[in-house]
Amino acid sequence: CGIVAYKGHRQAEEIIIKGLQRLEYRGYDSAGIALLTPELSIYKKKGKVAELQAHIADQNTQSTIGIGHTRWATHGEPNDVNAHPHYSQTKDLAIIHNGIIENYASVKKELVAHGHEFTSETDTEVLIHFIEYIQQSNNVDLVEAVRLALKRVVGAYAIAIISKNDPDLMIAARKGSPLVIGLGKNEFFLASDATPIVEYTNEVVYLNDNEIAVIRGNELHIKNTDDVVSTPEITLLDLEL
Ligand code: GLU
Repeated sequence: CGIVAYKGHRQAEEIIIKGLQRLEYRGYDSAGIALLTPELSIYKKKGKVAELQAHIADQNTQSTIGIGHTRWATHGEPNDVNAHPHYSQTKDLAIIHNGIIENYASVKKELVAHGHEFTSETDTEVLIHFIEYIQQSNNVDLVEAVRLALKRVVGAYAIAIISKNDPDLMIAARKGSPLVIGLGKNEFFLASDATPIVEYTNEVVYLNDNEIAVIRGNELHIKNTDDVVSTPEITLLDLEL
């Protein structure tokens, strides 16, 4: 039920774990994190963020880019496997997702027919496999694959994606579930609401429905699923609140 992601120059793990703790009030059953160490390392656990923290204490978490999630299960029971993040088929991509992909069963059937194997029961794993499948079969870049996939799925989502083969890229999108982007100095914070962001910056961009945020290097670009580009609208948070 919560998303926290970071791309910049600090250790992503610390910011993400702290952010997930700030979002604990939203309720959840599992927590997880994906980092580029530079391997794509995914750690996830049923239970509290504190359990995830203990689980990764002796792991290599050195990374300046990462995505973190607290899950409120809708498709598949709460357990370690169904917890987010989820991998794509080739394990190049990782995704976190809040919301529901309503037509996941028909998409999954199509992917299984193309040889995809799934490890979880979630709708989310279907979405990231679908994105990779479109990327490969249409020979398009990852941003375009995300756009095409989102045009085909029905449901509500806030998502964030990272790629092992493109470590300077983070993609986020939303429809029906909230997502805020905090703008720091050469760093970006992503979260379900501003609570994990306020201690780092007061400049935020609220993503609108059907928008895709592309963070590459020190730049943020926004377009919608119809491929219409827009200028990010910066809101100043009142830090006194
Ligand atoms: N539908 C997804 C799942 O069950 C995401 C749930 C959530 O919003 O945390 O894994």
